[in-house]
Amino acid sequence: AEEEDAALAARMQALLARVFGHARFRGPQAEIVAHVARGGDALVLMPTGGGKSLCYQLPALLREGVGVVISPLIALMEDQVAALRENGVAAAALHSGVAPEAAEAIERAAREGRLKLLYCAPERLQTRRFLELLDVLAAQGAIALFAIDEAHCVWQWGHDFRPDYLHLAMLPARYPEVPRIALTATADAAAREEIAARLALHEARRFVTSFDRPNLFYAAERKRGDGRAQLLAFLRRQPPEGGGIVYCLSRGKTEKLARWLNERGIPALPYHAGLTHEVRERHQRRFLAEDGLVMTATIAFGMGIDKPDVRFVAHLDLPRSLEGYYQETGRAGRDGEPAQAYLLWDGEDAAWHRQLIETSDMLPEQKEMAHRRLDALVDMVAGTGCRRQAILAYFGETIGPCGRCDRCLAPVRPWEATDAARKALSTVYRTGQRYGAAHLIDVLRGHASEAVVRRGHDRVSTYGLGVDLPAETWQAVFGELLLRGHLSIDFERHRALVLTPRARPLLRGEETFALALPRTAAKGSARGAGM
Ligand code: ADP
Ligand code: ZN
Repeated sequence: AEEEDAALAARMQALLARVFGHARFRGPQAEIVAHVARGGDALVLMPTGGGKSLCYQLPALLREGVGVVISPLIALMEDQVAALRENGVAAAALHSGVAPEAAEAIERAAREGRLKLLYCAPERLQTRRFLELLDVLAAQGAIALFAIDEAHCVWQWGHDFRPDYLHLAMLPARYPEVPRIALTATADAAAREEIAARLALHEARRFVTSFDRPNLFYAAERKRGDGRAQLLAFLRRQPPEGGGIVYCLSRGKTEKLARWLNERGIPALPYHAGLTHEVRERHQRRFLAEDGLVMTATIAFGMGIDKPDVRFVAHLDLPRSLEGYYQETGRAGRDGEPAQAYLLWDGEDAAWHRQLIETSDMLPEQKEMAHRRLDALVDMVAGTGCRRQAILAYFGETIGPCGRCDRCLAPVRPWEATDAARKALSTVYRTGQRYGAAHLIDVLRGHASEAVVRRGHDRVSTYGLGVDLPAETWQAVFGELLLRGHLSIDFERHRALVLTPRARPLLRGEETFALALPRTAAKGSARGAGM
């Protein structure tokens, strides 16, 4: 057995160099390749850019027959096939974009044993024709393996759910001799069990790579105003040759922001799904080719973009989940050099996401899942601890404080703000849940503005109760109450702040509320508040 191991290791090493041009395996790749090459099932959890493709491509080359790869995206399949052919591997893809004659030629090549890798869309595995082809191959022992790429598509509560993936559970019954390897970058700890169960990967060995991206520096800040000034300051701190991505929530915003940045001497291009194919192509090509370009983009940008030297990913709006945030920031620093992940957030962004979830046509369970994914991000943003610790905890990893995020480098002291939060909520309630933060802060600080007096708000019981805190501190309090969902915004009615069920325990004194203030500010506020 030892001799066999050595022979396999030598073949693996030779193919790694000859076909893929890499000197050594990365992380757990060698273990995974050897395990699958020997016929074992595997569930691989590895962050984007970790090198998943090689984990099924190499075993396919080592085994008899063709490796069948199930992949959800035509563009990804085509990229992979092109790269493999470039390296002299006989590869092809079958999907809805392939003409019938071409598909026939591919099927013939497979039957005649002239293919080493065959990519296909999940729906294929439900067509008689394709299953017959697989049956013929299986009977000859000519299927090297099944690779299930982007395996989280089988997870019903995720946003990439593809019903066709559920049918992949039939593979072990129909082709018991063929090893299976499922791969994903996006499974949080809770989703893993479900993916394994749904794909019937009961015996599969699990390979979990750390999701840590040690060269990424994480920072998050509450927006002041629309956040543009903070973004500009951030961009000006970056080395001029370093390009990056600024994610925005709306298409219109990407275009306005690109214009605004160009006017300030920062070359920027917008990218979103509403632009024509040509414009998108052109902008993407320039982003890949030029130094120091900023792409202002919606999340339509990024999937499958292979630019290793993206120096920063900034968010001008709060993303909708921790997982999305991790994926998007993961596009920075693929070359291993230091890179920045800079998030600007606003309580309104969170309120907006929550409203979108509530008014969507998702099933109740899906809504609950979407809320949980957003709350995980909110906890990271609002938390006073290490950012990396919070992110990795979500993926089931435990680490100490990283020493390389904004929280580690400039620690904040949690400010016990229960009293302030209750005054704020009670002012919202007593003024009829019809006003924005500016007016409510006037009431709290006892500012007898014309509007306050006209509405009789100088007579509500919380009038002037917050005079000891500066307006900015009150803004922070309202911002955090929105972020964490104690307040929401009535977007139809003058964006008034309204209470949510989450406000109740806090108002009743059953819950406490702490928020992060920078050390210096916290001291000032605490003294001002008489705490
Ligand atoms: P994933 O699918 O996990 O996002 P890929 O398989 O696309 O990652 O690999 C990401 C990048 O890493 C590719 O450019 C690939 O060539 C490179 N890569 C993969 N394995 C190795 C290795 N052992 N050594 C060097 N580079 C590698
Ligand atoms: Zn840290």
